[in-house]
Amino acid sequence: MEKMLLNNDLIDNDQMKLSINDRGYQFGDGIYEVIKVYNGNLFTPTEHIDRLYRSADAIRLVIPYTKDVLHKTLYDLVEENELVDGHIYLQITRGVSPRNHAFPIEPTEPVLIAYTQTAERPVNNHRNGVSAILVEDIRWLRCDIKSLNLLGNVLAKQKAHEANCYEAIQHRGEIVTEGSSSNIYGIKNGVLYTHPTNQYILNGITRQVVMKCCQELGIQVVEEPMTKEELLQMDEVFLSSTTSEITPIIKIDDSIINSGKPGDFTRKIQQAFEEKVQQVM
Ligand code: PMP
Repeated sequence: MEKMLLNNDLIDNDQMKLSINDRGYQFGDGIYEVIKVYNGNLFTPTEHIDRLYRSADAIRLVIPYTKDVLHKTLYDLVEENELVDGHIYLQITRGVSPRNHAFPIEPTEPVLIAYTQTAERPVNNHRNGVSAILVEDIRWLRCDIKSLNLLGNVLAKQKAHEANCYEAIQHRGEIVTEGSSSNIYGIKNGVLYTHPTNQYILNGITRQVVMKCCQELGIQVVEEPMTKEELLQMDEVFLSSTTSEITPIIKIDDSIINSGKPGDFTRKIQQAFEEKVQQVM
C-alpha cells in the first residue's frame, strides 16, 4: 500500500481522512508545490521548498516545520513508496474550522498532505513540440503565489484541451503573461524573451533553471513583457514547467512557429537542462 504524508505522519492511502471544514476545500485557502523525482532523487528541492515558504508568507500561513524537516520527510515519502520517476504533490492549507471567510479566531493547525505519483517524462512532446492557443488571462493579481485557487488556470487549460492543444498561453490585454501551468519564452535572433517575475506570473523553478542554462550557454535573456503579436513573430517558442520540463511550442492558434519544428536554441536549452537532470540521476 502506498503511503501519503499527513502532517508529520506517513499513513496508508486508504486511511487518509480530510475534514469538510478544511479551508483548502472550502476556500482554496492554501498553497502547493509539485516536485519532480528522477531516479528516486528530488530535482531542485531547495528551490521548491523555499518557494513554498514564500507562498505561505504571502498568505500569512505559518508552516509548523522547518525547511530541513520538510525536506527530509519528503525524501522519506519517496523512499517509502519506492518512487523512481515521477513527482511529489504537496499542499498545505490553513486548517480546519467552521466556514467563515476571515481567518479562524482560534489558531488552527495547518494541514499538510503529500503524495507521490509515478510519471513518465513527456519525451515525445520534447522531441516534436506541441500546439497552444492564446486566451485572456482572467486570474487574480497575485499569480506569484502558488495558491490552491486555480480556477482561472483550470478554465484556460480546458479551452486548450477543447481546441486539441497542449497549453493555453495567457495574455492580459496585449501582454503575454504565462501558460495555464507553465512559463512561456520566445527566441528572436538568438535572444530569449520572457515575462519578468512579478505578481503577474509564477516564478517557475524550471524557469530559474532555464535562466541558469542560458547564462551557461551565453544566450542573452531579456525579461520584459512581450505582446501577443511579438510572440507570434518569434523564431522559436517554448514552455517550461516541473512536469513538462522544456517543451517546444510549434503552433499558436493558426500561426506556425519555425515551420512547425522545434528550433536550434530550444534544443540547446533542452540539452543543458538534460545535463542538470542527469546530475541528480
Ligand atoms: N506558471 C504556472 C501558472 C504554473 O502552474 C506552473 C507550474 N506549476 C509554472 C508556471 C511553472 O512552474 P515550475 O517550473 O515551478 O513548475
